[in-house]
Amino acid sequence: MKKRIVSCIVTCMETYCAAISWNKLVKEADDLFRKLFPITRSITGNGVRQTLEILREVADFDIKEIPSGTALYDKWIIPDEWNLRGAYVEDPFGRRILDAKDNNLHVVNYSTPVDCTLSFGELEKHLHTDPDLPEAIPYRTTYYKKDWGFCISYEQFKKMDRTGTYRVRIDSTLEPGSLTFGENIIRGNSGQEFLLSTYCCHPSMANDNLSGLILWVLLLRELKKQNTRHGYRFIAVPEGIGAVAYLFFNKRVMRKIQGGFVITTVAGPGKFGYRRTYLGNHLIDRVALKSLGELREEFIDYPFDAKTTDDSHYSAPYFRIPMGILCKDKYYEYDYYHTSFDNLSFTSGKNLIGTLKLYLLSIEKLEKNLTYKSLSPYCQPQLSKRGLYPETGGKNHVNAHPAQADELDLIRWMIFKSDGKTSLLDISDSTGFSMEDLHRIAEKLRRYNLLKVIK
Ligand code: ZN
Repeated sequence: MKKRIVSCIVTCMETYCAAISWNKLVKEADDLFRKLFPITRSITGNGVRQTLEILREVADFDIKEIPSGTALYDKWIIPDEWNLRGAYVEDPFGRRILDAKDNNLHVVNYSTPVDCTLSFGELEKHLHTDPDLPEAIPYRTTYYKKDWGFCISYEQFKKMDRTGTYRVRIDSTLEPGSLTFGENIIRGNSGQEFLLSTYCCHPSMANDNLSGLILWVLLLRELKKQNTRHGYRFIAVPEGIGAVAYLFFNKRVMRKIQGGFVITTVAGPGKFGYRRTYLGNHLIDRVALKSLGELREEFIDYPFDAKTTDDSHYSAPYFRIPMGILCKDKYYEYDYYHTSFDNLSFTSGKNLIGTLKLYLLSIEKLEKNLTYKSLSPYCQPQLSKRGLYPETGGKNHVNAHPAQADELDLIRWMIFKSDGKTSLLDISDSTGFSMEDLHRIAEKLRRYNLLKVIK
């Protein structure tokens, strides 16, 4: 099944990126997964810097910092920077039963420092489990409330000694520093810009959202190689606060963004999915759904939901940027979400590259969504005198060679529809021809001086 998906997408992509070595990309994605997975990331701190530095070896972008204490919109303020050196819990027999060295999810992200002994009853108030997935360590955070805690599998929690004294230590720092994010702007000449945003704050979980970060940087590299018509603004920010900060410091340009994608949870073993923009049928939705449709595989079509990720900020009333999400095992939806089971066994480079192809297909459609105008609007132009009609007239062209018939059909539809108002995407939707074929024919007719590009 998976093999068929990949081969089908490869066919669709033939004209666009035949030069891409997909197998090499799969290996590169797998290598990046292994390299970046163990790093302790948070909404601030050295883990984010280290991650972005490694990603910058794949495709260059700027790494920027915003100082702690910077006031943003509403009550959002850049928090103190958090760094974790180590953390553990020792049981009454001196055995180290939890250690952040084994898994950084054991520590509630943003825990304040602590070094004390306490009873099980007192410790229990700071322990988090997930009885629904009893063998997994849950992921918990305390970004905006000063607190500390540990996460432990429910199975291990049940076995803990209830009588003795525990020793706990969290060797963390929470002090003025900065929030770190990545940015790269690919300039186009169409006057339109799209946003490609991902979040870089999650510690060791592979699908949410190491996969998004890896896809983001590979997509950046692919688009940098092309001479794109539109502009593409790539940002990798800590979820929530990072998006608010980016909007705050880029208010004017962000209001002009046409739309975009939040790149998250793209490499699970389940079906492809698409979470629609708040508009539901925006250009972004149409190119994403059309690309998914070309797979001829079942996918999940999620409506917009206000319980969402960074697009709750990007699509807020002042900015209203329509943001879609192409994913593979969408956040919230898979059983291992926000647990230690979202690890490198759950995801794969191959799955990630399958979703990367969908992003490339969608962007190809954005790029090719031109509007043409006929330069012979008074009648259908004389095609045979231009060598655009089969040499023997009178025959019903449906009896001609299929390729020739298709070409003539495409030519007729393109000329008929090119009123200067109808985009290639509209023509594709109404005729059933692919945008790639329509674009190829439109460019041919442009060379024959039969069409011109309006926008
Ligand atoms: Zn998450």
